[in-house]
Amino acid sequence: LMFQGKALSLTKHSDGIAELIFDLQGESVNKFNLLAVSELDQILTLLEQAKDIKGLLVTSAKDVFIVGADIMEFGAVFAAGPEQIIGHLANNNRNNCRLEDLPFPTVVAINGIALGGGLEFCLSCDYRIASTAASKIGLPETKLGIIPGWGGTVRLPRVAGLDTAVEWIAAGKENTAEQALTARVVDAVVEPAKLRDAALHTLNQAIAGKFDYKARREQKKGPLKLNFIESMMAFETSKAFVGGQAGRNYPAPVSAIKAMQKAADKGRDEALQAEAENFAKMAQTPVAQSLVGIFVNEQLLTKKAKSWEKKADKKIARAAVLGAGIMGGGIAYQSALKGTAIKMKDIAQAGIDLGLSEANKLLSKRVERKKMTAAEMGDVLNRIEPTLVYDGFDKVDIVVEAVVENPKVKQSVLAEAETKVSADTVLASNTSTISITYLAEALQRPENFCGMHFFNPVHMMPLVEVIRGAKTSDNAVARTVAYANAMGKKAIVVKDCPGFLVNRVLFPYLAGFAMLVRDGVDYQRIDKLMETWGWPMGPAYLLDVVGIDTAVHAEKVMADGFPDRMKRDFKSCTDVMFAAGRLGQKNSKGFYNYELDKKGKPAKVASPEALELLKPIVAATPLEISDDDIIARMMVPMATELARCLEEGIVETAAEADMALVYGTGFPPFRGGVFRWIDFIGAQTFIDMAAKFSSLSALYEPPASLKAKAANNQRFYG
Ligand code: NAD
Repeated sequence: LMFQGKALSLTKHSDGIAELIFDLQGESVNKFNLLAVSELDQILTLLEQAKDIKGLLVTSAKDVFIVGADIMEFGAVFAAGPEQIIGHLANNNRNNCRLEDLPFPTVVAINGIALGGGLEFCLSCDYRIASTAASKIGLPETKLGIIPGWGGTVRLPRVAGLDTAVEWIAAGKENTAEQALTARVVDAVVEPAKLRDAALHTLNQAIAGKFDYKARREQKKGPLKLNFIESMMAFETSKAFVGGQAGRNYPAPVSAIKAMQKAADKGRDEALQAEAENFAKMAQTPVAQSLVGIFVNEQLLTKKAKSWEKKADKKIARAAVLGAGIMGGGIAYQSALKGTAIKMKDIAQAGIDLGLSEANKLLSKRVERKKMTAAEMGDVLNRIEPTLVYDGFDKVDIVVEAVVENPKVKQSVLAEAETKVSADTVLASNTSTISITYLAEALQRPENFCGMHFFNPVHMMPLVEVIRGAKTSDNAVARTVAYANAMGKKAIVVKDCPGFLVNRVLFPYLAGFAMLVRDGVDYQRIDKLMETWGWPMGPAYLLDVVGIDTAVHAEKVMADGFPDRMKRDFKSCTDVMFAAGRLGQKNSKGFYNYELDKKGKPAKVASPEALELLKPIVAATPLEISDDDIIARMMVPMATELARCLEEGIVETAAEADMALVYGTGFPPFRGGVFRWIDFIGAQTFIDMAAKFSSLSALYEPPASLKAKAANNQRFYG
């Protein structure tokens, strides 16, 4: 043993081969954290000084190879300024270069995940042998709004060619070992059991002079082998293409290509400099800070969800859903897909047929896309048991109620179901708006009841709100979170109130929209603007997708719940659409008209009829208003309501609130969430912006906690 650290160790074998082993103590995965970087530095010194080493083998003692740099360390580094960022990169770049320059050949055995800094380390070795178990190999940095910073943009194009480098880096895609082999990123792929032998064999061949490892190093250290015209073409075309794909809110993919372009005719050290400069630029953008913030928040969410799951008295083996409509069908599909058998009960055969045909459609698409085999599809369908009766409900661990959004119907369905299940079965309602405490009044065992609010379409939307009513027990919450985890969803536990968290803040945003339209602002302009701001769809389009009837109904529940600020004293554009029977996408007419496109999907087109219908309720003289003011009038009500939810403890942390919006509404991830957005503009600026519109509605009044934040110059995040 030559070195024993807390992340790395170095052993010398009798045949003159040294082995560097990654095994970060106290963690389930290897990360390239500051500790690993400093230990690598020490190990390289030992290797450089040793006289009798013939070759270096690198392995991992864990299932993964290296997941990448430690993202939890990014915040402090990025905030320290460009020089510190470049200095931070230089430390490990020096390591990777020293590794590349060792006086003997190096081979890495990639036994599992090799991402980001992990793959960049591998690229600094002479040969890369991967196991078939290494299912994730790639450079995902651009997904965090940054670019590879430890030589990825320098070595990948020189090892695998520019096209592969652009494809891998710009999309941040994770590749399998086989894909990495095809792309020439790794040299060979073998069964896990043969990995060590294969790597050693390669190393011995190189030691024996049968492989020219020095030529490989020259290729990595020299300029890219492209002539001027080729390089112009390749870089300009890919910048245009990648820029179009990523959109203007996500600058990192194009920045990575620019770094490669700038470095194309340069040797290694200068090329690394170009990379570091672009990295520092990206690391300081709000986008990178938001995306890294989302990663950190996501860790918190996972941790909380796991700790709830641990508190559950049992695992969910069997589930049931009541109502086989849009939501019930989606819930049954998702449960079955992820392996939990589910009974799907409806009162009408037609409902069941619809639910099953939806599941069938989704599964067939997966088979078409080769994401599953026909046999696997059969297994999933077999896990859904359609029924019109309650047979076997005494054996299910959880029942999700997803019948029509009507309090009386829900209460009676829940009360009936309670008599059919065992004493410990958890009942959960998928209601969008109705108070859980209120629904619980119909039950004998209100402690076994909570909300489990999915979003439409269930298979696409990651969020599930788990709602705790006044009498809900910890175990009911825990089982429900455990079920959400098993379904591959992100559960956030919130307290009961009308609309819970997401709809409670979405309706104020839509109220902001209704007031703008009333005052004479064209909704198509608002839609375009909010989409440019980053929302996946503007508010009018969103209302069409949700369904105008659903929205009108939910809005009423919200107005009853919070009359002081959500009750309207004017007829809104949504009311007009509803009265005219324009229900949105579901009947092909709403704020827009919908026509089926070539793929059979509803495509929106402008609707002169809708505009005409709105004339009577729209101000005769249209309001002259700037784009910024439109955005403020839309966003302030959502933000003040979210701050109120945090203040009231409806949601525990700002991080969970922000993630609920990203996962539940498609809030632009590059903005990191509403609280992150307020942090960026500053709480006082936000309050000043809100004050400008205070005469419109109480929704523009920031709650006390937010005012205090501004007064004390505090942030929601650190
Ligand atoms: P839907 O009308 O598509 O489906 C309701 C189904 O329930 C129908 O198939 C109906 O036959 C069935 N049903 C009615 N009474 C029943 C009973 N006594 N027992 C069993 N089945 C019964 O409605 P949906 O859009 O799926 O909504 C269901 C619930 O989910 C509502 O509470 C809604 O607020 C909520 N939700 C809907 C959305 C959405 O976007 N659609 C999103 C989140 C939550």
